Amino acid sequence: MRILDKKRATYKKVYTDDDSCVFCRKDEHECDGLSGRYWRVMANKFPYMDGNVMIVSKRHVGKVEEITKKEWEEFGKILSNTQKVLGEIFKTNSFNVGLNVGPESGASIEHLHWQVIPRKFKNITVMNTFADLYLVAVSAEETKKMIDAITKKSKLNLKK
Ligand SMILES: [Zn+2]
Repeated sequence: MRILDKKRATYKKVYTDDDSCVFCRKDEHECDGLSGRYWRVMANKFPYMDGNVMIVSKRHVGKVEEITKKEWEEFGKILSNTQKVLGEIFKTNSFNVGLNVGPESGASIEHLHWQVIPRKFKNITVMNTFADLYLVAVSAEETKKMIDAITKKSKLNLKK
């Protein structure tokens, strides 16, 4: 169970009422300093944990084998840059990077999106050890703001 599960359940309904794919367009949570030519980095509106961002293909693709060589090449840089920036903000070198593919996997939207979550000892608590319960304190807006502040300073020498 996660605190924000209720909202997540309505995510697809709320944002896809016009039948278009929520990941096929830019939205207010995109972190422009991290996005590239083929991939968007977006703060997750309903984060699994603090600092949860998603790396989303700009093309509407649902299968890993549809990703081109050029897209993979850029993906590597973007994942690396995303970890650098999140690591700086959340003071950690630990991350969960995950992808759900296909209807049985729990993927709610059939458009490839990697979850990237910075991990700290601090966010492993008695609650999620025994009850799989996570507290999320940082909103998507706050995550985006912190990422933008760092990428604008470009102190981290991010390669594009
Ligand atoms: Zn799409």
